Amino acid sequence: MKPENLLMIPGPVQLHERIIKALGSQMISHRSKDFEEVYEYCREALKPLFGTKGDVVIISGSGTAGMEAAVASFSKVRKITCVSNGKFGERFAEIAWRYAEVDHVKFEWGDSIDLDKVRESLENGSEMVTFVHNETSTGILNPAREICKIAKEYDALVVMDGITSVGGDEVRMDEWGVDVCIVGSQKCLGAPPGLAAVAINEKAWEFYNERVPYYLDLKAYVKKAEKNQTPYTPAVPLFLALKEALKIIEEEGLENRIERHRRLAKAVREWAIEAGLELFPRLNEYSSYSNTVTAIKMPKGITDSELRGTLRNEFGITISGGQEHLKGKIFRIGNMGNVSKREIVATLAAIESVMLRKGVEIKPALNKVYEVLG
Ligand SMILES: *Cc1c(COP(=O)(O)O)cnc(C)c1O
Repeated sequence: MKPENLLMIPGPVQLHERIIKALGSQMISHRSKDFEEVYEYCREALKPLFGTKGDVVIISGSGTAGMEAAVASFSKVRKITCVSNGKFGERFAEIAWRYAEVDHVKFEWGDSIDLDKVRESLENGSEMVTFVHNETSTGILNPAREICKIAKEYDALVVMDGITSVGGDEVRMDEWGVDVCIVGSQKCLGAPPGLAAVAINEKAWEFYNERVPYYLDLKAYVKKAEKNQTPYTPAVPLFLALKEALKIIEEEGLENRIERHRRLAKAVREWAIEAGLELFPRLNEYSSYSNTVTAIKMPKGITDSELRGTLRNEFGITISGGQEHLKGKIFRIGNMGNVSKREIVATLAAIESVMLRKGVEIKPALNKVYEVLG
């Protein structure tokens, strides 16, 4: 029998018992007071995580549905600057060309964003900027504050993918000047996959394009949200689970939660460095390592399937590989949601033992994990 699976990937994440229980609830009508209360709770509880006093609506669909709803609904622009340094930044460009001309300011996966290039693109007449705050494919945290600052100089709308930062790292939409921000339920919020929350500030409506795909029209969501309802039948079980996930966040306290994510990611990084492994992202003065996912170069002497396959089959631990051209070149460890020291130690100890057994030249480094986590 295979051991129970421990998910240490950047979403979906392991569910807290209470969330599993909520998922198994009897259905309620989405036009009932009961649902309205659930929806209202979720919208309000999400606001501090986004760092906004603006509107928050929830779409039944994965994070990508939120990305497309955000770009499409506010695409009354001629040109969009899509800044990318990884898979999810590129996804914005794949969405955006359907609605406007795109200037894709594209960097190598793992590279940092060169802010001068962003400025150059805006100088050439873009009215919207899209970027990913925490680029999950490479483990880099992009400089949201600085990008917003440049965008504001040109009065451009800022659409930020906060899918793997909201709920796990600091996001301050209003303070930074992010106009539209998206989060997915299955990442740092610790809920099951299938919901995308979109936070929208007033300015975005100047860019409203009514010829948005029907299901993704954020105006319809905002209008219905006045009555704490969704325009179409929502994924009710997921809303019930999300409410429980947000309650858990409230109980932990946002600051504590962010601090926990930071310490866990730091423990993974310090372990990797001490072991003699190499972190994947190439930082500049504005970027930093992700606090929710760590990307590490695959060392010599072991293949992706040997590492991840053995972890899965022998220890019941799932970590992620690299995506697309990074397949086999990196592996990624997520620490999103309700992860604790126990899962981090188990994961890193298992990786260490698999690598040592394969003869990979690394040094045992769990002492670093205890130094960071106590
Ligand atoms: C997971 C992820 C997405 C995509 O979300 P889906 O829920 O798979 O649609 C988008 N952006 C980032 C940064 C992600 O990590």
